[in-house]
Amino acid sequence: MSRRRAVLAEMGLAPVWRLRKENAPQQDAVAQAQPALDWIPLKALVSGCTACGLHKTRTQTVFGVGDPDADWMLIGEAPGAEEDRLGDPFVGQAGKLLDNMLAAIDLHRSRNVYIANVLKCRPPGNRNPEPEEVAKCSPHLLRQIELVKPRLIVAMGRFAAQTLLNTDASIASLRGRVHRYAGVPLIVTYHPAYLLRNLPDKSKAWADLVFARKTLAEL
Ligand code: URA
Repeated sequence: MSRRRAVLAEMGLAPVWRLRKENAPQQDAVAQAQPALDWIPLKALVSGCTACGLHKTRTQTVFGVGDPDADWMLIGEAPGAEEDRLGDPFVGQAGKLLDNMLAAIDLHRSRNVYIANVLKCRPPGNRNPEPEEVAKCSPHLLRQIELVKPRLIVAMGRFAAQTLLNTDASIASLRGRVHRYAGVPLIVTYHPAYLLRNLPDKSKAWADLVFARKTLAEL
């Protein structure tokens, strides 16, 4: 331990956040996390957010849903049409599949799981999120993570995984390992919408959830 770290630890100021070059965008986002806003002001801030162009085309923001003290935090990409209409994440067909998979390991979105997206507004026509939109929205997600304090994050789909881990690596190469985001262990799995189109991969997603449950039990 360096002298500076030892002194900070002695003062009760550890752990120390350090900038790591290979994680620059992620750490930038950490640096910009919404300062100490609690749930109600954070939700209000998000619902009035005009930081990127997506506010012009949204019906409403999709903040997140679930148990605010959950051990599990599931993170998807961005709201789709149904989510934009109803205001909650994963309420369409993909959401039903997600709920069923969670139920199989005795989890429910109102109990021990918090579900959010990287983006809080729907990209028009379900196009891929732009880097600037991600950069503007990341502080909201980071503050949600700080408030929930999950013991485990599950990144669902290529976009969420690549964004949170700041990598171009494929889902296949990221699965089956424990990564970290904002200091929290993170596991990668397929997006439920992908699974609806690729039913044989459901067994792999199931294996990911079993791996996540085992990882959490061993933390
Ligand atoms: N896809 C996502 O990534 N998030 C949602 O909320 C809905 C669909």
